[in-house]
Order: sequence, then C-alpha cells, then structure tokens
Amino acid sequence: MTILTNMAIGVELPNGHAQRDQPRQQQQQVNMPGSTTLSMSERSGYSRWAGDVDNIDLQIAPKEPGSEGWFSGRKGLVLRILVLGTLFVFGLILGYVIRRSTHGVPSKVLDSLQQDYRQDISQQLMLNMRAENIESNLRWLTNQSHVGGSDESYNMARTIRQKLKDFGFDATQLKRYKVLLSYPDRSKPNTVSFVEGDNTLFHTTGQQYSDPSLLQPYNAYSPNGTVEGKLVYANYGRMEDFKRLVDKGINCTGRIVIMRYGKIYRGDKVEHAAAAGAIGVVLYSDPADYAIHGSNDTYNVSWWLPRDGVQTGDIRAGMGDPLTPMYPAIDNVARLNESDANLPTIPSQPISYKDAEQFLNMLDGQIAPIDWKGGIKNVEYRLDQTDNNDRKMKLEVNNKRVTKSIYNVIGTIRGAVEPDRYVIVGNHRDAWTYGAIDPSSGTACFLELARALGQMVQSGWRPRRTIILASWGAEEFGTIGSTEWVEENINELTEKAVAYLNIDAAVNGNQTLWVGASPHLSQVIQEAAKQVPCPHHKGMSVYQQWAKSLPEEPRKSDSPPKVLSLHNGVKRSDWDAFLLLAGISSLDVSYTKDPNLNVPFYPVYHTQYETFDYMKRFIDPDFSVHLGTVRVLGETALRLADSFVLPMNCSLYADALSKYVSDLETHYRKRNLHDNLFLGYLKHAVSQFSQASETMQEVIATADRTNPLLIRSHNDKLMQMERHMLNPSGLPGRPQYRHLVFAPSQHDSYSGATFPGVVDAIEEGDWVAAHQQLSIITVTIESAAKNMDDGAIKGP
Ligand SMILES: [Zn+2]
Repeated sequence: MTILTNMAIGVELPNGHAQRDQPRQQQQQVNMPGSTTLSMSERSGYSRWAGDVDNIDLQIAPKEPGSEGWFSGRKGLVLRILVLGTLFVFGLILGYVIRRSTHGVPSKVLDSLQQDYRQDISQQLMLNMRAENIESNLRWLTNQSHVGGSDESYNMARTIRQKLKDFGFDATQLKRYKVLLSYPDRSKPNTVSFVEGDNTLFHTTGQQYSDPSLLQPYNAYSPNGTVEGKLVYANYGRMEDFKRLVDKGINCTGRIVIMRYGKIYRGDKVEHAAAAGAIGVVLYSDPADYAIHGSNDTYNVSWWLPRDGVQTGDIRAGMGDPLTPMYPAIDNVARLNESDANLPTIPSQPISYKDAEQFLNMLDGQIAPIDWKGGIKNVEYRLDQTDNNDRKMKLEVNNKRVTKSIYNVIGTIRGAVEPDRYVIVGNHRDAWTYGAIDPSSGTACFLELARALGQMVQSGWRPRRTIILASWGAEEFGTIGSTEWVEENINELTEKAVAYLNIDAAVNGNQTLWVGASPHLSQVIQEAAKQVPCPHHKGMSVYQQWAKSLPEEPRKSDSPPKVLSLHNGVKRSDWDAFLLLAGISSLDVSYTKDPNLNVPFYPVYHTQYETFDYMKRFIDPDFSVHLGTVRVLGETALRLADSFVLPMNCSLYADALSKYVSDLETHYRKRNLHDNLFLGYLKHAVSQFSQASETMQEVIATADRTNPLLIRSHNDKLMQMERHMLNPSGLPGRPQYRHLVFAPSQHDSYSGATFPGVVDAIEEGDWVAAHQQLSIITVTIESAAKNMDDGAIKGP
C-alpha cells in the first residue's frame, strides 16, 4: 500500500518491527518509535503498555545496587545542568516559532495535529481483509474445544499474542488473573432421574462425548447436592410464568422445576425458581424454539438442534470473578469466602429434549396454558403431578469449583497524535465447546482485523489515537477476563478510553447486521455500514440490507436501520464492565438471522454442535458474511481512532433519554405511576440535557479546526459524556452496576431495564426507594447537561 505522509510531519516515522525483536531489558527503557514534539505526550499516555510483557507483575524489575542511572550522583548533576540548558534553548526557539504561526502552533506541526479520517485509508483497510483468511482462522480455532481456564485456551492465547507481534503491533501482553471457575466432574457425572420409592424408572447422565476435550453439559456455578421432589413445569421461567403458576394454585415449594431455555437469561430462571421455593432446576431446549420443523429436520440436515443437543451455560448474576467483586483478581487482592459470594443457591442441570420428554411425561396434573405448550411430539405439557402420583424427580449435581488462571491478550497500536486516547476492540476467546459461532466466528474476524491493521502499521500508517485489541478469557463464566481488566485499569480507562467495540458471536446468522450501541454511537456505525458491500446482494451495502431487514420505522421506505440499546438488544458479553461499571461508550456488532423468525438466538448455541462444518454448511459457506461484519467493525474502529473530531452525537443520547422516560410512563400507566411518582423533574432534566447537547453539537460542528486544543476539549466532552451517567455507589445492592440508564434488570439479566434503579424498585412495590432512585437519576442527568454547557462557570 501507499505510505502516507500527512501525519508524518513533526513525527518520526514509526518502526513497529524494530521494537518487537529486542530483548526485554531494552524494551523496558522508554523505547518509543517516533515522538511528537508538541503537547500530547505519548510517553505519559503510553508507558503502561510499552514493550512485550508476559504479565504486568513482571514489568517492575528490582533495581540492582549501584545502578541508579545517569542522572544521579555528581556526574548526574553536570548532566542534569546540560540537559536543562538544552531544553531552555530549545524552549526559546520553540517559543519564537510558535509566535509566528497560527494559534501559536507552527503550521507543519499543525498539519500533523489535524490528522483526520481518510477515505483512502478506509479503502485500504477494507481491501486488506480477506474472507479466506477468516475461514482458515475459524478452522484453526475450532479444531478443539477451548473452555475458559483450560490448557487449550491458554495455548490459544499464547498463539494469538504471537500473531499480534508478528502482525506488527507495538506492544503485546498476556495478562493473567486467578479466578473462581466451575466445571463438571468427569468421574462423577451429574444425573437426572425419576424414581418411585426405591425404584429408578428413568435415569440420564446426559451426553457422553467421545472427544475427551469436551466437558459434559452443565450449569456453571450450580451448587452441588442431591435433591428429590415432585416436578413442576414453569414454561420459560419468567416472573410472569411463576405468577401464573401461583394463580393456578401451584406451589413450587420443595419441588424441582423444569423449564425451557429461551426468552430470558438462564440464571434468572434458576433465581426465580429458588425465590418460588424450589429445591432444584432442570433446563432443556424445546423443539418449539430450537427445532421448529421437528426432529428430522435438524443438524446434520439443517441448522436446527438435534434431539440430544444440550445447552451449557453459567447461571450466575453479576460480572467478573465471583470472589473479587469490584477489584481485579490479582495475587494481592483479598478473596471473599465462597459462602459470602453471590452464587446460585439451588442445584440445576441442563438436559436435551430427548431426555426432557421422559420427565414431562411424568406430569399428570393440570394441563398447561396453550402458549406454554412446546413442540415435543409425544408430550401433553402439563403443569404438575396429581396427589396420587408418587413419582419424584431426583437431581444429583457434582460440579467442582476451582481457582484457575485465565488470560487476556492485549495488543496495542500506538496513536500518532493522541496516544493517550484509546479505542478498544475486544472479543472473548473461550468457548463452551468448539465455539464455531460463540465466540470463534468473532475471534476469526478479530484476528483478520488485527492482521489488516498490522499490515498498515508496517507500511508506515499510524492511527491518530491508540487502538487496543483485546482477546478476553473466561467470558462464558460471567465476562470474567474483561471485567477483571476493567477493574484493574479503571482509572486509566476512565481518563483515556474513547469507546469499547465488542465482537462476540459475530456470525450467528446470515440475514442482517445486528448492532447494540450506546445511543451516541449509532451514527458512526451506520455510516460505517454504508461503506461496506452487502455479502449477498451486488450493488447493495450492508447498511441497505440492514435497513430493509430491521428498519427503525417500518412504515417508512427510507427508514434507517434500527440500532438497539445494548441492554436489551444483545446478550451479555464483554461490554458489561466497560459500559455498566466504567461508563465507557460501547457497541456490539454481529450478523444474525431474519429478525422475524421468532426463535431464541441460533439453535445450536452453547452445544456440542457449534462446529466448523455447521458454520460452513449452514451459515456462511464462503465467509463473505464474516468479511462484511469485520469490515463494519474495522471501519467503525477506524473512524473513532482517526477522526479529528470524534464521531459521537450526544443529541442522539438526548433523544434516547426522552424515549426512555416516555416508555417508563407508558409501561407503568396501569400501575398508577403518576399517583406514586412525579416525573416532572426528570423530564425537565432530560430537556436541559437535550438543549445542552444540541448547543454542544452545533459548537463542535462550527469549531475552529486550526485550534487542536479546542477540538481536543470538545472531544473530551464527547468521550466523557457517558461517564457522567454513572452513580459512584451503584444500584442498590449491586455496586458493580453503576450506570443509571442501562443495566440488566434484577429479574432478567438478558433484557435489562432502562433506569433500572427505578424499575426494580417499582417491580418490588417500594415507592420510597423508587422516589430516591428517580431523584438520583434526575440530578445526574442535570449535572451531565451542565458539563456540556460549562454550567459551573456560567452565570444564571
Ligand atoms: Zn460469547
């Protein structure tokens, strides 16, 4: 590719290669290729990740005696005088030059400070990425299972780090945390059976895999134990499902509850059952949701879930290592006792629909409501057992909770102009099985983006801001790798992170782009999608196909595509801690199935059938969908990293806030919201925020672009805006959830609630708490508006 020169004035051309092959000791000196001569010091912004470091602990090597360095002692005094003298003379010259140039900045330096997003760079990045590379990445990633905490996942992390080095990244790290994980015990399989007296009538240990690297299906963090009780069927296990059981006079106390996967997060199903008094839970995937054409039309014939497919998954609330909430799981941090940690309280186990048939047929009580009926052919779908049915379900769980090392790989491309501003792209690496979709379709894309960016760096290009690529460990156990990293680096990220872009199950369907984002990031990703050709339709862009499949306003022919908010559009993933704990604006991008197909996610989600063959035959045979997805991601990252003025639009945030307020009103109209809660102050705060953001966007649009400090101060406001939506003490009882606008709802961690503090309080019928939370939100939004407006220094 062409070597670009516009940013090179005043900046030495970087040489990514030279650095990476040098021995570690040398790298620990300040060894920055290229250095700007003006205000934005890359040293201060960058020193944390300089060099190749196995683990952050290793960075601080003890000093040897007598090696105090050049600047100490008598010899040092002379040197210091010399250096200070040189700096003084240099300062005089610089001062003279500055006085003679625009806004005090010499014009050559000004050019470099104005480095901006460029179409030719964008084109080059697109062209650098190749479908065949993504395909071979996926083939490699899926050739064995790689669950969090395993040797396979560790080896994969080391290889990925080596790849980033080879691609030309300035610095790479392998960052370790020691966290509490949970596995099934191969020698004592979990069993589900039904018994009558001493007789076992049916017994299953689920799938026994021939591949020894595969774990047996289980629910991570389920407590161990053997429980026995009568069975109740609770549909999807939502709050309303349990309410319906109560209405029908069915008591779950002392019983085991069987529920189907789908609609809400599995951990919440278990929690709801425990709250209803149940002593155990069995989860299964119903063909009505996972094999809609019946069990003959399943994988290997089509993409639907076979009869013996079992969905594994964790069932814990919260994020990160369970024993170190709010703090990184590094050696010197104190751990909670397991008994004090927020862990599930009743045993649970997933099974296949082949096995579920046996248990559902045990039920002979009330017939289930029509909308509770699933798709297993020989099952009537009843709710409970009659009094004279003495059969009982017996559930035995033998999981092991163990402390394990997990690893993040962090790769950095240093920014040329603003190295202390970070655009972070992350993907998790661990998978429950082979992970062809979750997360390896994302990892295959991530690696190709890394290669393409590295290729450009090696040709002499450098982004305006620093780009960080992160491969997270142990996401499946509750976004652990990313959360620990955010907790460890929270101050640095609070000050420097522009945005976090997540890619997880990147290609889980082949119909349309699917994006969840902080409201003020929706424009940049829409613009990015306009630049990318649609994988299937010649002459169309990804944007056009997306707008057609998922229009924001379905009645309008030219409607833009819908960007969902992260909390209700995207399953939990590594953006959790970035957005909800640290207030870093985030987005998540993937390609998905037809949104009108009313089934939960893709059918083989988290099962043994997530294989390369499945992806190749049923989702993306030529990997063009992968290519389209990663191009949108790469283009978005480029725009955020390279644009002189950050492409974030706070007016869109304001629009979203107004919509959330009116949604809140509509949703609770039936509950007499207005008699209990006065929303006037909140509405006023939102309108202040709207005005301030509109004014700010106008000021930015007309700002003097020859004044880089002014632009930088506007950019900082855009970058920090979401941070101002945090409440430092978090939601009641949930200190990790500090975002006042978005958070998973207490009762469904997948779907989440806007203004969760208020919503949870209303759900619990606590109007005093609701009032308290409402006032916190109001003050917070007012304060965010003031900051946009420089309200503290303006008169009334
Ligand atoms: Zn995932």
